[in-house]
Amino acid sequence: MIRDEETLTLLLDTIARFVRERLVPAEAEVARTDRIPEEIVAEMRRLGLFGLTIPEEYGGMGLTMEEEVRVYFEMGHTSPAFRSYFGTNCGIGSQAIVIDGTPEQKARYLPRLASGELIGSFALTEPGAGSDAASLRTTAVREGDCYVLNGTKRFITNAPEAGIFTVMARTDPAKKGADGISAFLVERDTPGLWVGPPDVKMGQRGAHTADVVFENCRVPAENLIGGREGQGFKTAMKVLDKGRIAIAATAVGVAERMLQDALRYACEREQFGKPIAEFQLVQTMLADSQAEIYAARCTVLDAARLRDAGENVNLQAACAKMFATEMCGRVADRAVQIHGGAGYMAEYGIERFYRDVRLFRIYEGTTQIQQLVIARNLIRSGKIYG
Ligand SMILES: Cc1cc2nc3c(=O)[nH]c(=O)nc-3n(C[C@H](O)[C@H](O)[C@H](O)COP(=O)(O)OP(=O)(O)OC[C@H]3O[C@@H](n4cnc5c(N)ncnc54)[C@H](O)[C@@H]3O)c2cc1C
Repeated sequence: MIRDEETLTLLLDTIARFVRERLVPAEAEVARTDRIPEEIVAEMRRLGLFGLTIPEEYGGMGLTMEEEVRVYFEMGHTSPAFRSYFGTNCGIGSQAIVIDGTPEQKARYLPRLASGELIGSFALTEPGAGSDAASLRTTAVREGDCYVLNGTKRFITNAPEAGIFTVMARTDPAKKGADGISAFLVERDTPGLWVGPPDVKMGQRGAHTADVVFENCRVPAENLIGGREGQGFKTAMKVLDKGRIAIAATAVGVAERMLQDALRYACEREQFGKPIAEFQLVQTMLADSQAEIYAARCTVLDAARLRDAGENVNLQAACAKMFATEMCGRVADRAVQIHGGAGYMAEYGIERFYRDVRLFRIYEGTTQIQQLVIARNLIRSGKIYG
């Protein structure tokens, strides 16, 4: 749903200019230093990017899902590390509070998340619980007016920078699956919370992940999200349904950038006396990429519109994430191929995108998990979507 076409166009134009003039020129430096310059972060704050999806009453822009994906199409035209930095605040770092938080939790945290003063992280994955997130072992035991948390969370995006963590932990050890899990808001300076050193990753330098360890970490009971035990896994899945559409949109945007770069190179590079774009085998790679990007874009927009209409988009979000991220991997591969040897060289940047986009098929549910979600929906309802 688009609330006001004119306002959205203005926002998209501003973001496109920011991407073109500030972020694209900084890509190589961010990759080299593994750090987004402070002045760029300050500009992100000024543009309101940290609060894209946070309701206006808490200082955000309150974008609908359709508006949000259109922003991410634009943001995808540069290194995904930039979007990861503020996008975590708009997505998994804030949405548990937006969707299921109490009025007090919303008032306490959302304004600072929206302004970018506070960075939010989402801590579900553990060393022994990735795809099977419902088997998580971190415990939260009620003691007086606190819960005492113990456990380790792994690969947590923005953990090194975060001031607030949404943490899924088991409050009822008698229940082994999802029902025994609750979600908590844990502030960074809470005694007993430790953040490990940043992980060394394949790509997306400038975006950081780390372990988050809880050792007898006492969290005030009022920080139980929604104020009810046993709801945490449901909250996490609602957050991920939304997050998957956002990742899919980013994958579409990055695929567009890679195809644009490949198209330019194919038109400029000459072999056998003519631009390589004139060879039909190269044209096949360009055409397949364009058609797949178009299909993914339509899928993402459809899922976003359905979510805005209040539908349960569990199936559509999984379809969008699976198709768009797998498509993005294929486009990355073809873009490297079209660049030939230059595609393998750091100087041309395309190998960096090739590494960066590999993550899209892994986090917020691997492709295999999306396939299971899609199949489960089909079997449960006995009918297909279409
Ligand atoms: C850079 C990065 C950032 C991340 N950020 C966050 C974050 O902010 N918060 C957070 O909580 N987590 C985060 N994660 C964790 C991420 O969500 C998990 O890595 C992901 O869900 C996969 O879990 P796993 O790594 O344990 O792999 P595993 O679950 O061990 O999977 C290994 C392989 O087995 C396959 N597999 C597993 N189960 C099945 C099955 N039933 N059927 C078929 N195949 C299966 C998987 O698809 C995969 O191919 C991040 C990960 C990375 C790499």
